[in-house]
Amino acid sequence: MSLNDLYREVILDHYRSPRNRGSLPAADAHGEGHNPLCGDEITIDLSLADGVVTDVAVSGQGCSISQASASMMSEAIKGHTLDEIKSVSGDFIALMTGDGIELDEEKPGTVLGDLEALAGVREFPVRIKCATLGWHTMLDALDLSDA
Ligand code: ZN
Repeated sequence: MSLNDLYREVILDHYRSPRNRGSLPAADAHGEGHNPLCGDEITIDLSLADGVVTDVAVSGQGCSISQASASMMSEAIKGHTLDEIKSVSGDFIALMTGDGIELDEEKPGTVLGDLEALAGVREFPVRIKCATLGWHTMLDALDLSDA
């Protein structure tokens, strides 16, 4: 199995079996994001305690990249502090925008784990917004967006 096939499998797995799917009736933070270029929609509920995201729920609809990336995002942030979330989000967005994150081609998954599966999306610039939608929506909901 080539690396590209492996990456495709990771993305399809998250698309078919999205993690942390649903909503949180008593959420502490809530975000909604929309990518009009593709029609992707993401809604995120977050529960917080002592600066840690204790629970996250994602719903929405759209292309496989947008939904799979939001699923991976939910796994990457659950149980983590706001500082850690800001760090991994910054790294992921840097990866997608080709800005300063180098992956180890010899050892896939050692820099950003499963998130590296989305690196292939960079070859399709119109889809980068699909991959980052859930992340920007989450950062906005947590008031962690710099820009
Ligand atoms: Zn999309």
